[in-house]
Amino acid sequence: MDPLLLVGGLLAWFVIWYVRDRYSEASDDKTSAPLPAPSKTVTEANAKQEAEAKAKADAEAKAKQEAEAKAKADAEAKAKQEAEAKAKAEAKAKADAEAKAKQEAEAKAKADAEAKAKQEAEAKAKTDAEAKAKQEAEAKAKADAEAKAKQEAEAKAKAKTDAEAKAKQEAEAKAKPAAATKNPAKAPAKSAKSAPAASGIAYPDAPPLTLPALPDKFDKEYQGKDPLNNDAPVTINPAQMSCTCDDFQKNRASLPADDARRACACITQKLTQIRAKSCYEPMVWCALISGHQRDLSRLKTFKLNGSEMGVGFDPASPVCALYARVMKAGDAKGKPSGDYKAFQYDLANNAWVGDEPGEMAATYAKRVTALFR
Ligand SMILES: [Zn+2]
Repeated sequence: MDPLLLVGGLLAWFVIWYVRDRYSEASDDKTSAPLPAPSKTVTEANAKQEAEAKAKADAEAKAKQEAEAKAKADAEAKAKQEAEAKAKAEAKAKADAEAKAKQEAEAKAKADAEAKAKQEAEAKAKTDAEAKAKQEAEAKAKADAEAKAKQEAEAKAKAKTDAEAKAKQEAEAKAKPAAATKNPAKAPAKSAKSAPAASGIAYPDAPPLTLPALPDKFDKEYQGKDPLNNDAPVTINPAQMSCTCDDFQKNRASLPADDARRACACITQKLTQIRAKSCYEPMVWCALISGHQRDLSRLKTFKLNGSEMGVGFDPASPVCALYARVMKAGDAKGKPSGDYKAFQYDLANNAWVGDEPGEMAATYAKRVTALFR
């Protein structure tokens, strides 16, 4: 707007206002004298001054308003900017933290998995090693047991062979002078003709005498004496048929547990002392206690007039043992019912060695020699 036009406008407006005011005063107060009209110069100057002041004030107010508006806008913009920056920073921090946490979790999971895998591998290795060690130990134990069993079997076989060889040797050595030395006083006259070879005797097939198992009450150690060694102290287990004497240890220990040849002199004596007689058949008890059978490898049993009898012998010897009943008072002729007794008969010389079976001597001699033809 042209300032001149503005000033002109304002001046015109002032004149109109002034005229109307004057007119109104004149009409309201007819009595008062009309005020002298202000000089035209003063009035205009005032108006101009006021207008300028107002314009200035308006301009200042507007400028202030604008400045405030701008300041406010600036502040808001700045606050917004800061908020955005802050939000962005927070988001970044959060993202960073999450990424780091994720990374750590992954690293931990990996480490855990590796540790577990290592642990499992170690456990498996340990288990495998143990299984292998066990297997090896078992294999070794088996091999050892087999080796030991083989060794024992060989030792046993050798001992048996040795014992048999020795027994045979002894029997042979004994065979010739047996009849004469066993009981010289009662031996039949052997004289010069007594030397027929044992080869003239036909030995029958027969098994060794086997013994029944004794009751458990006899399965314990007894103190005893060795009648063949000045009654030296020995320890005996009758149920096991075992003894600590030299004869048993050297010649009998390797024989089967139920073989009558295990009965050393100490054992037969002990069996009598503990009253084990009822555990055996009468004829078997007789053969066992007589002591003859422990040096004879065979036993031939047979019946005579309904009575059980037995002949113990060894193919290396011409002297056999007879276990038979003897006559007792009241027995019918040729039918003895007395106790069993042991006798010895020399097959080579056809003669009894030692005690003869009384009135049954001829009958028994005939029966025995019949077995060896
Ligand atoms: Zn003994």
